[in-house]
Amino acid sequence: MEDCIFCKIVRGEIPARKIHEDEDTLAFLDIHPVAPVHFLLIPKQHIESLSETDSAHQQLLGKMMWLAPRLAAAQGCQDGFRAIINNGRIGGQEVPHLHIHIIGGKNRLPAMI
Ligand code: 5GP
Repeated sequence: MEDCIFCKIVRGEIPARKIHEDEDTLAFLDIHPVAPVHFLLIPKQHIESLSETDSAHQQLLGKMMWLAPRLAAAQGCQDGFRAIINNGRIGGQEVPHLHIHIIGGKNRLPAMI
């Protein structure tokens, strides 16, 4: 997608601090971290949100779920982390390109609603 900010990161048109890249996925540090570890794991292909996935995306989604704890551990979160997917306007999604927030750090994260 031409105007999508995360597609621009995938294409290298805007900079990002990448921590992982393979043929299907990219992970990079969030520009406004909310914890000592905060990165985003995205599919390289433009998928607007989790709601926009279909059965053809099952393998990709599985790969992202498999990658998440491994990338988190590589960032120092061996003892745990939080994985969040904001989905759609009501879900607080601001960037319309599917992404998993991986959040962690030294201390226990606060409880969520
Ligand atoms: P959302 O609210 O869509 O789930 O989260 C979008 C996230 O993308 C936010 O945490 C925001 O800080 C991050 N973000 C937005 N623009 C950029 C950018 O240009 N580069 C990076 N690295 N992160 C971004």
